[in-house]
Amino acid sequence: MTKKAAIIRGDGVGPEVVDCLLKVLRECNLQSELVLCEAGSEQWDKNGRKDDSYIPNSTMQVLEESDACYKGPTTTLPVAGAPRSVAVSLRQKFNLYANIRPCKTFERITPNIKLDCVCFREATEGLYTGVEVKITDDAAIAIRKITRNGCRRLINSALEWAERYDMKKIVGITKRNILKETDGIFWDELKRSTESKPDYQLREIYIDNMAQQMVINPEQFNGSVLISTNLFMDIISELASGLIGSIGLIYSANIGDDFAMFEAAHGSAPDIAGQNKVNPTATILSGAWMAEYLGEKHIRDAIFSATEQVVNEGKTVTFDIGGNSTTLQMTNEIIKIANQNLRK
Ligand code: NAD
Repeated sequence: MTKKAAIIRGDGVGPEVVDCLLKVLRECNLQSELVLCEAGSEQWDKNGRKDDSYIPNSTMQVLEESDACYKGPTTTLPVAGAPRSVAVSLRQKFNLYANIRPCKTFERITPNIKLDCVCFREATEGLYTGVEVKITDDAAIAIRKITRNGCRRLINSALEWAERYDMKKIVGITKRNILKETDGIFWDELKRSTESKPDYQLREIYIDNMAQQMVINPEQFNGSVLISTNLFMDIISELASGLIGSIGLIYSANIGDDFAMFEAAHGSAPDIAGQNKVNPTATILSGAWMAEYLGEKHIRDAIFSATEQVVNEGKTVTFDIGGNSTTLQMTNEIIKIANQNLRK
């Protein structure tokens, strides 16, 4: 049966990069059905700022009928009474517990660093449950919720990845010396899940040391699956992304048991919106990953290899990675090579 994905173009540079992604997928002859729908602060503004969500009901209905969605970057307004972010809402609504960010450098961009690892971040609990209690005018506490079930499902999905890509080094990032109960549960589950896999090397690193190690010797994590709770991995995956050279190259997926959301790591970049200069790489790579999720892996492979070639050649690339091509020119170059790859 044909699979179906909802496509949210988003705010700021969102429509520019998502239109490029759609062009790439169509020209690679993707068979899955793509349904455009709206979400984000621009449509919320246009509708008179009256909704209590950035995701209209009509969009929610399309999402519920789909197998996956692509979410362009959306603006989260820092004003009282504005809705919560589209990404956080969708992660919680569809129980997208695994936020996955592959971190692989490109030879031309960082000739002195060759990083290749993947970050698995728990995305539904931890410090992001949003439960805070004000005790007095001068004191407040935030709840860090960690459950065995929440840890187990993230760990299982990380270990599946390890198996599929033959990555035998598993790194659990904790602060168990201080957070004995919450990180105790996380570490316990990680240790238990790897007990039956004697060829795996399991290593625990405290979050503060991890940040230091990522800066002084990131290559020690090559071939590793890094796993952690929500806030810790939010920070470490962002640190790893910083080593790759441009936020325009970082792509990710949020995967649950029966739905997935794919997105670039960057935001709506209002400072460069409408100028046809934003780097489309992150959007194209996350969209290609969605093609694989929808059952069309050959399209993913063709696009990944084309994008790597275009970025490494550096002749038709955007300003942030040393070129002067437009968003559309870079996209067209990727399409040309992806099509050659598909014909091979
Ligand atoms: P941002 O990622 O939008 O921009 C940070 C800087 O990086 C800007 O200078 C921007 O021009 C540049 N940049 C971003 N993407 C680029 C690309 N593909 N190519 C070249 N340069 C690029 O972060 P911000 O300015 O902190 O946030 C702007 C808005 O985006 C905020 O409303 C924020 O809430 C939202 N945001 C959304 C997401 C998301 O939807 N996933 C993620 C982060 C921020």
